[in-house]
Amino acid sequence: MGLTKSSVGISALDSGLEIKKQSENDVVVAIAGNPNVGKSTLFNNLTGMNQHTGNWPGKTVSNAQGYCRTEDHGCVMVDIPGTYSLMAHSAEEEVARNFICFGNPDAVVVVCDATCLERNLNLVLQTVEISEKTLVCVNLMDEAKRKNIRIDLAALSKSLGVPVVGTVARKKRSLDLFKRELDKLLSGKTETAPVSIKYDDAVERAIDLLSPVIEARTDGALPSRWLALRLLDCDSSLMRELNSRLGFDLMSDPEIGVALSEANEALKQSGMDAVSLRDSIVSSIVRTAESIAKSAVKKHSGYNDFDRKTDCLLTSRKTGYPLMLLMLAVVFWITMTGANYPSQLLSDMFFALQQKLTLLFTSLDAPEWLYGALVLGVYRVLTWVISVMLPPMAIFFPLFTLLEDVGYLPRVAYNLDKPFKRCKACGKQALTMCMGFGCNAAGVVGCRIIDSPRERLIAILTNNFVPCNGRFPAMITLISMFFVMSGGVLGSLTSALLLTGVILLGIIVTLGVSRLLSETLLRGVPSSFTLELPPYRRPQVGKVIVRSIFDRTLFVLGRAAAVAAPAGLVIWLMANVTVGDMTLLSHCSSFLDPFARLLGMDGVILMAFILGFPANEIVIPIIIMAYMSQGSIAQIDITQMKQLFIDNGWTWATAVSVMLFSLFHWPCSTTVLTVKRETGSIKWTAVSMLLPTLVGMLLCFLFTCAMRLLS
Ligand code: GDP
Repeated sequence: MGLTKSSVGISALDSGLEIKKQSENDVVVAIAGNPNVGKSTLFNNLTGMNQHTGNWPGKTVSNAQGYCRTEDHGCVMVDIPGTYSLMAHSAEEEVARNFICFGNPDAVVVVCDATCLERNLNLVLQTVEISEKTLVCVNLMDEAKRKNIRIDLAALSKSLGVPVVGTVARKKRSLDLFKRELDKLLSGKTETAPVSIKYDDAVERAIDLLSPVIEARTDGALPSRWLALRLLDCDSSLMRELNSRLGFDLMSDPEIGVALSEANEALKQSGMDAVSLRDSIVSSIVRTAESIAKSAVKKHSGYNDFDRKTDCLLTSRKTGYPLMLLMLAVVFWITMTGANYPSQLLSDMFFALQQKLTLLFTSLDAPEWLYGALVLGVYRVLTWVISVMLPPMAIFFPLFTLLEDVGYLPRVAYNLDKPFKRCKACGKQALTMCMGFGCNAAGVVGCRIIDSPRERLIAILTNNFVPCNGRFPAMITLISMFFVMSGGVLGSLTSALLLTGVILLGIIVTLGVSRLLSETLLRGVPSSFTLELPPYRRPQVGKVIVRSIFDRTLFVLGRAAAVAAPAGLVIWLMANVTVGDMTLLSHCSSFLDPFARLLGMDGVILMAFILGFPANEIVIPIIIMAYMSQGSIAQIDITQMKQLFIDNGWTWATAVSVMLFSLFHWPCSTTVLTVKRETGSIKWTAVSMLLPTLVGMLLCFLFTCAMRLLS
């Protein structure tokens, strides 16, 4: 049985992605490269899409596709996860390898970082072993120029035997040449003759023994030299993949089997075992990369002085943590101070509009229930969510994205690596935790960057312990209402510090629960990983602001609003439909009341948390609506809101309990669904809901008991 090109997964479905061509003649182009070299930026600028970009390795964890027209071709561009090598070690490296090897792209673009070309060439060399249609894109040419690194692109192309083009992916204009080169490659106008890596003599002899047999047996579907090396190297995950596509076991093919044992015997006689074979293969690749880089790169300069000094400050034991907390506090302070004024403005504007709506309903003689449901229900909750959430999000997201773009996030992971290791978890969990600040569902997906399944599960189960943007506004509101007496700078500074304290508590509990899980349900030894500290880069301020407002802020707000509107209606109905002598709302809240009191809250608050399952943003509006259905106030600004809460029995201790429960309770529905998808297990999904809820209940209960004892 032979292996033909079509049986090696011509259908890209096999590589986990359904390619969506717009016409028969469209071609498929894979964008590969080391992590953090600008693949997604290139992809976005070519396709007009918005894949998440950021200055840290490991953001892209699955294939994404988009469409790009060049002069002669319609191209489906596939952005594959960053990988250093095609000898896959982790899940995302496997995704990358499978697409290059079996996705059968018409061309592969390998994006390289011009500031550290040599390391990037390892992947280029491995790629050209499989695909002759490779275009090397030397990106970050502006950074290289800044660091005085000059690259002779023509010499590089000559050494590699494939076309090379220099780009600044951030600048769309610099991509014209790239598109022209891609066109020439796709239409066969550029001839390629990829460099062949010269392996050690013993390895070359073994390849010579094996590759003719493979060539005959597989019909040349994949390069036989490359396949021979993989067989000798016993790359088991690749073999599994290959066998599943072939429908038969390559290793058990009699002819290949005989040739393989001969080749292995020859290797053994040269004193080579499995480990030294892999070492020898890797060293040959590295040697070749080294010599090619030497001839093409004019001036070397790696990690520069500025980066080194800044890293000393941001990651040293003495200054790293204080600066991290300071940075967090500053971000919160700017968010809170900046959000106050626009929040008030929006609230005034919406209230003025509400009065107009009221007049309109009166003049139309609309029934009372219609006015109540639409204006007092839907409109009020919706406008509350917008005026309270929009301003802080519009400030927080861009600030956070700027820190990401500059390259600060990996430094946070570096700082937190030790405490996470001590808790037998993975340092990369710090990165997924940071993503959780934006959205826990995104944080859970981000956990794919963690290789060990055990550590990945720990990171998924604890992601909800840091508050997402849906929960920040509630906390900010409660802090401003109950803990900050004065206004002005002092007031907002106190709020920022308190919020930083709350987040710190979230991080401490994340570490504690990670430790608990590692010692009980998920026992194991922490794996080591190398975290690469990317160079600091000047962020694209304008782009960051625009993108974080459109991609994140409006997206989150849209989701919250979509939930808030129907929730407003449901709450209004519950507050107005009476069963017996009580409204439905009173029935539910009095049912929950005794239990909620044990946690320092009341039935209404607990019910709001339950009804807030679709989106955390609506918890506070539900509480307000529920209280207001019993009394009535006109506009809900912060002073009236505080009065409303106090009238309903709140003290500062209630606010603490609500904040604790807001920080630690079940994740929102989107996150729960994401956990189910990522773990594929109902059991772990249930654990991800129970764990924070139990922690929250325990903390609230202990706090309430302590308060009762003290009073
Ligand atoms: P990926 O991990 O390879 O997909 O990398 P990204 O596309 O997310 O880019 C990593 C970082 O490099 C981001 O902060 C980009 O804005 C930045 N970047 C990408 N291309 C360039 C470039 O040509 N010049 C500069 N200065 N920065 C770039």
